[in-house]
Amino acid sequence: MPSYTPMIQQYLHIKAQYPDAFLFFRLGDFYELFFDDAIKAAQELEITLTSRDGGGDERVPMCGVPYHSAQGYIEQLIEKGYKVAVCEQVEDPKTAKGVVRREVVQLITPGTLMEGKGLTEKENHYLAALTPFADGTYGLAYADLSTGEVRLTLLSSWEEAANELHAVGAREIVIGSDSAEEWVRELKERYTAAISYEDDTSLRDEWGGVVGHVAQEKLRTAAARLLHYLVRTQKRRLDHLQPAELYQVDHYMKMDRHSKLHLELVETVRSKGRKGSLLWLLDETVTAMGGRLLKQWLDRPLIDRREIDRRHDFVETLKTSYFERQELRSLLRNVYDIERLVGRVSYGNANARDLVQLKKSLLQVPALRQTVGALPLAEADKLCKRLDPCEELVDLLERSIQEQPPLSVKEGNIIKDGYDERLDRYRDASRNGKAWIAELEAKEREATGIKSLKVGYNRVFGYYIEVTKPNLPLVPEGRYERKQTLANAERFITAELKEKEALILEAEEKSIELEYELFVAIREQVKQYIPRLQTLAKAVAELDVLQSFAKVSDERRYVRPQFSTERVLVIQGGRHPVVEKVLGAQTYVPNDCYMDREREMLLITGPNMAGKSTYMRQVALTAVMAQIGCFVPAERAVLPIFDQVFTRIGAADDLSAGQSTFMVEMLEARHAIAHATQNSLILFDEIGRGTSTYDGMALAQAIIEYIHDHIGAKTLFSTHYHELTALERSLPRLSNVHARAIEENGKVVFLHQIADGPADRSYGIHVAELAGLPASLIERARAILAELEQAAGKREADAGRMGDGARAEAVFAFKGNEASDVGRAVGREEASRPSAGAAREDVLP
Ligand code: ADP
Repeated sequence: MPSYTPMIQQYLHIKAQYPDAFLFFRLGDFYELFFDDAIKAAQELEITLTSRDGGGDERVPMCGVPYHSAQGYIEQLIEKGYKVAVCEQVEDPKTAKGVVRREVVQLITPGTLMEGKGLTEKENHYLAALTPFADGTYGLAYADLSTGEVRLTLLSSWEEAANELHAVGAREIVIGSDSAEEWVRELKERYTAAISYEDDTSLRDEWGGVVGHVAQEKLRTAAARLLHYLVRTQKRRLDHLQPAELYQVDHYMKMDRHSKLHLELVETVRSKGRKGSLLWLLDETVTAMGGRLLKQWLDRPLIDRREIDRRHDFVETLKTSYFERQELRSLLRNVYDIERLVGRVSYGNANARDLVQLKKSLLQVPALRQTVGALPLAEADKLCKRLDPCEELVDLLERSIQEQPPLSVKEGNIIKDGYDERLDRYRDASRNGKAWIAELEAKEREATGIKSLKVGYNRVFGYYIEVTKPNLPLVPEGRYERKQTLANAERFITAELKEKEALILEAEEKSIELEYELFVAIREQVKQYIPRLQTLAKAVAELDVLQSFAKVSDERRYVRPQFSTERVLVIQGGRHPVVEKVLGAQTYVPNDCYMDREREMLLITGPNMAGKSTYMRQVALTAVMAQIGCFVPAERAVLPIFDQVFTRIGAADDLSAGQSTFMVEMLEARHAIAHATQNSLILFDEIGRGTSTYDGMALAQAIIEYIHDHIGAKTLFSTHYHELTALERSLPRLSNVHARAIEENGKVVFLHQIADGPADRSYGIHVAELAGLPASLIERARAILAELEQAAGKREADAGRMGDGARAEAVFAFKGNEASDVGRAVGREEASRPSAGAAREDVLP
């Protein structure tokens, strides 16, 4: 090692422990970065790179940011996926011998943000830890450090784990450092999250509150990895971590990432933003907690009938109680983010304003209780009990913290008079002193006869008496001591004035110190209320989401769905909620949908832009809305409870991912076929379009037949291949419907109506005619069509004679034998469903 200065040596020693993080090294009022960190940070943050003499042969590259504005720079780096180790001076430089002792007090990582712009109000910010086990299962633990939520689940396969990880949307994934390289590479490819490592998976006693109730060894291991990482990076007690919530993915409606994206539940395909998504439509929450819970509910629709009913009961009551709802909304508007406030209290970075916000929030609770309690609903009573007003806490905060304290907790003006006797005494001393000084001016004017005499204060000289030049002869010699000379005045002090000043300053200094101590003690006291506050926060969040559902349902004329145990689906006057909102209720054309055990599949034909995919989505969205507990956009709805929803709609998003559209389409089809049950809902939009006509048509038919014969899931299948409509004759549970279009004054008009039966076959030719193609050409097209249809009719008749087993040979006219080959590839000829093993081949080696 070159002969570095002791400070640079200290730096290098600490940096060695944090090789993968930027080390923010506190030097007085700055955080400095050195060596490679400095070069990289200067680039990323666009700040000036300098250098300093470090004792070695070459100067040490250096850059720095002022400590009071460091937060913004740290956020920038975190946003880019980096980690930042914050290294503070942990002893007073005035009393330190040699180099000031420094320690890393916190490692900030993408998954462990506690404050700042990186934390979106209505979104959770998760850190996940994933642990694979030898039997192919995965333990997943994740936490939102800012709110203290912790969740644990066990997943049966990599596919399931990968999907859940997507649903969670973790910003950072923690794994063991012995993880297989291939797997790590895949994680990095699939997720934008930062990858971190933690090997210690032993549980500590102090985590009893979080995992004491968790019996399963695998879940305990998964949780331990997460907790170790949190403690190692945050370096403090995390009292706000809540008891881990255990859940199983199959207790909720399952939907893979693609399906969620296709349905635009929380973001749109095109902009990847919230606007235009179902979440955007449904979000009338007024608290941040409600906003986050709504997203969680949307991510996990229920399948338990009683739980769904419970939410619907509540929504129904609030939907009809307009005034109570308004009242709730206005009360909730004054409730701050209790969950994150609690997090900050526990974390030790809550300031006095946070405590005032907490108090103001708690002050809403009695009125909330009253309003909720008055609702004619047993469930409302239950929720009421969880709305804990924490009166003693309110009382404490009311007595102790000023109404408008400053941001800083080290500058006084935090604690109310009367809260602490010592503080009152200091304040009295300072006030008395100041009052004495206030009277001094008049007193001295009288004593000296100088009418223009002034008493003033400045930071360098403290209090002084100012006399203008012409009056100087009147100054009492001996009693006044000259302090400062200005252009046209002199400033003096007196012994008495200095004495009072010293008293005031001492009292102020002491009171500021004492205020800080008192504040920290109050914050400690608030910690005792953390579990109660968290219970309250959950109840508030629930109430907020329920009122949001009620408001949207009321304003948009949604109805309470009924549930069928007979796998019947009846939607009358159904609408696509988002399209309806965007187009306006007057423009939107409502549609019915009827399905039951004899009518499991609908084959939807009709021209482009006629409304096919909107119709399919509206059925799926109706099911999702029903199962998250909201009312649905229809005049009447009877629905089965779906265990899973599969959708394959559109392709725009896949192209960028590097796989061919067709491959993605086939993978998703395979996924649906491998996992769907008769209680699932499948939407396939134009499957098979990505390949040659015959290939595509053959595949589409084979897929339809497979679902029809082996799965029995409710399926909506839209297609361009008019030929497929003939399947209605051979598949008893399949029916044709079509999106209607008519010609009006020489123009095609899409009615956006879904009607029974196949679309008019010659429709395309009709459009060509409208477009003005030569009459002879149109005539010729009609003739070709007729020929094709005749041939198709013949094949069909043949197929019919051969019986059910052979029917798949083809109902449409086509030459060659590609179809049956592809059909086999998709699995038409397999007697049973593909094995789970086959289902996994594309996701993990
Ligand atoms: P397709 O899938 O048949 O190509 P889409 O479902 O994409 O057609 O619908 C095309 C456009 O028609 C949509 O963007 C929407 O604006 C409009 N549309 C669809 N369904 C309706 C409806 N029921 N009422 C009014 N407009 C609709």
